[in-house]
Amino acid sequence: GGGARGCYFTSAVRDKGGAILGALSVTVDLEALETDWRGDPEIIYFTDANDVVFIANRDTRLWRRLSGAGADPRYGETPLRPMPPHRSLERFGRTLWQMRGDGEIPAHALHLQQPLPVIGMTGNILIDLSGVEQEARLRTALAGAALGVIVLLVAYLLQRRRTLAVRLQVEEEANSRLEERVQKRTEELKRTQDELIQAAKLSALGQMSAGIGHELNQPLAAIQSYSENAVILLERGQVGETEKNLERISGLAARIGRIITNLRAFARKEGEPATDVDLVRVVEDTLELAAIRLRDSHVRIHWTPPPAPVMVQGGRVRLQQVVLNLITNATDAMEGQADKQIWIDLVLGTGKTWLELRDNGPGLSDPEKIFEPFYSTKTVGDGMGLGLSISYGIVQSFGGRITGRNSPEGGAVFRMELTPAKGAQNAGPDNGGGRNAL
Ligand code: ADP
Repeated sequence: GGGARGCYFTSAVRDKGGAILGALSVTVDLEALETDWRGDPEIIYFTDANDVVFIANRDTRLWRRLSGAGADPRYGETPLRPMPPHRSLERFGRTLWQMRGDGEIPAHALHLQQPLPVIGMTGNILIDLSGVEQEARLRTALAGAALGVIVLLVAYLLQRRRTLAVRLQVEEEANSRLEERVQKRTEELKRTQDELIQAAKLSALGQMSAGIGHELNQPLAAIQSYSENAVILLERGQVGETEKNLERISGLAARIGRIITNLRAFARKEGEPATDVDLVRVVEDTLELAAIRLRDSHVRIHWTPPPAPVMVQGGRVRLQQVVLNLITNATDAMEGQADKQIWIDLVLGTGKTWLELRDNGPGLSDPEKIFEPFYSTKTVGDGMGLGLSISYGIVQSFGGRITGRNSPEGGAVFRMELTPAKGAQNAGPDNGGGRNAL
């Protein structure tokens, strides 16, 4: 007893009848018990029904502070109060306590309670959260650092992307400038090529002009004499003969008209893109243009026009120019030999149409070089060496190809490959057309 704090257990001692013989009392010195307890990291204490601390593993001075913590103003100083409920703890019905920490009592603690009805007390434990909090802080710091790194990384990537975008834009601009320049140059080249084609054509016309004059003069002279005759025949009253003369005059005038139309068409500058052209008609018109030269040079032409038109993609005048160039070259090559012959064939393949032109001249001395600009074996003044290179460009502009080689039978063979016109019903080998061989 006395002022010492202790635990008193008292029990009555009775006899068999139940009469009380005396009382047995046991006193437990709590001070001694508490002294043994001290040193545990957790604060453990027991409260009675009035929330008064009965025994604790801390110094007695703490009793009051722990008694009725945060709830009862009777105890004056209320250093313990529940922290704002924490969601994760709420689920377990637990509370966190915040206290005026002072080495003996932690500042933040988890408060767990266990009712102990057998001894009429409640067990309490306050678990110091400083370790957990420290770890949480550490983790937060780590997470923060990681976040910082991520933010830096993202910023770096964004910056890089921006730099890349700027570089791409610069490159794109340079590219488009280059493209523009290439396009400009291409246009210039195209114009130059067109001018070259035109110049070559006019030069060919110039070379033919003497023959053309002759060709026109001859029917004109004939017309003159026929009309003079017609006047005389009419005076004599020979109406039937007069009519025949007039018909001849009409035929000759038509021929002159045809020649002029053909020449005019040939001289015209053809700038349009490829259209559909009848290759048979191209050969016929070219042969008519070259007729005088061929006749004067005594060249025999082997050409049997197919019964139906052979439609290809190209330009009429430009194709005529190519064929005329081939005929002129062959005629030039055979100059001086007695027997001069040219074979012209149309070959219809699937998806391709060929025009083949063979001569029985000396053949090509350097087949690799013939399409090179300024390659010419003709004596200076006669050849510029541009005809075949211009022809090459023309055929290529129609999506076709032109090749030249020596024939096993002797002489040169030129083959112009063209694309059939879209939807063209070119006569195949089975329906009457086909190889026009001779
Ligand atoms: P040019 O007619 O002004 O010489 P081309 O480009 O038309 O220019 O021809 C180039 C050269 O190709 C000719 O000089 C000639 O040597 C050769 N060539 C072209 N066609 C024939 C051919 N049918 N037979 C022999 N050589 C030819």
